[in-house]
Amino acid sequence: MPEAGNGGADSTDAIDAVEFAGRLIRCPSVTPAEGGAIDVLESALGALGFTCHRLRFEEAGTDPIDNLYARIGTGAPHLCFAGHTDVVPVGDTAAWTVGPFDGAVRDGLLWGRGAADMKGGIAAFVAAAARVIGEHGGNPPGSISLLITGDEEGPAVNGTTKVLDWMEAAGEIPDACVVGEPTNPNALGDMMKIGRRGSLTGTLTVHGTQGHVAYPHLADNPIHHLLRMLEPFAHGQLDEGTAHFQPSTLAITTIDVGNPASNVVPAKATAVFNIRFNDAHNSQSLERMLRDSFDQKGARYELSTSCSGESFLTEPGRLSTLVADAAEAVVGRRPELSTTGGTSDARFICRLCPVVEFGLVGQTMHKVDERVAVADIQSLTDIYAALLRRFLA
Ligand SMILES: [Zn+2]
Repeated sequence: MPEAGNGGADSTDAIDAVEFAGRLIRCPSVTPAEGGAIDVLESALGALGFTCHRLRFEEAGTDPIDNLYARIGTGAPHLCFAGHTDVVPVGDTAAWTVGPFDGAVRDGLLWGRGAADMKGGIAAFVAAAARVIGEHGGNPPGSISLLITGDEEGPAVNGTTKVLDWMEAAGEIPDACVVGEPTNPNALGDMMKIGRRGSLTGTLTVHGTQGHVAYPHLADNPIHHLLRMLEPFAHGQLDEGTAHFQPSTLAITTIDVGNPASNVVPAKATAVFNIRFNDAHNSQSLERMLRDSFDQKGARYELSTSCSGESFLTEPGRLSTLVADAAEAVVGRRPELSTTGGTSDARFICRLCPVVEFGLVGQTMHKVDERVAVADIQSLTDIYAALLRRFLA
């Protein structure tokens, strides 16, 4: 029998994870709207004995965002769960089999926007915490906290980074953190993320001299320079990968000249590219590498870069082992330790403590008919409960 604490989603659980996930889905919290989701969490966690801090952040030119930090216990060890209640837009509502904000169960599946990414994961953790708190008569050993943001899918300006600033100032430093993103490609127990690649976007503008195409010696074609400058990077991989990471990659996303005339050499050309990079690089070393290479081509250019997150890695160790042990105890499979995929708020949290990500199956995230198996929500609840018991022991 898989490990299931009090017997999985049995009637002794203070919170039914599937029902609670449905309640969260019924809050239409498309970024930046709070939609009532933080309210639902705050009152449920408050009733379990958590001390809740509602953190509303705002800065000029951005939408105000509601976030929540909740903690029960004051001692060590301190495990934090991080997640986001905001969801991406639903697109064409008519294309959904079940209303995206109905939070309905049909055919053994919980349907709705956020079911996988990541209200189902949050609900599983809240139900797991409730179960473990109940096992200890309301006073679990150590501390359990939740860092919940309403701004992960959006600009992420008034979300996790500002909550982390607040936590640091308040001396709220967890010993470890688990992010409930849907990390499993196909089945629960497939994969845990122990790091993520960084992301850097570059805009390269090359200047030439406008002229008649029939007299190219009188012109200086910036497109030709641009192509020569990008060519060394146009083969995809920037390195061979590292111990825990795939190779870094560069993708040119657009080349814009805006030249309507077939008989004119344009004065300038611009390209935009995105680099997903591993722990062999950082945004500064990448910019140096690009400039060194571009300089050698001898054209006049401007390069601007913006980095939405450096790469990070939590070396395999106690945290990843405990999460893997908990998953294996429940579903009989040890998750692969991976750094694949896009970015997540774990890239911010890593500055406070070791962080790994483990949640539901991500197949339908951001899609029409987002849905997860009810059985997976129950198993994930068992996994999080098993993790809490191991971590707090
Ligand atoms: Zn997410």
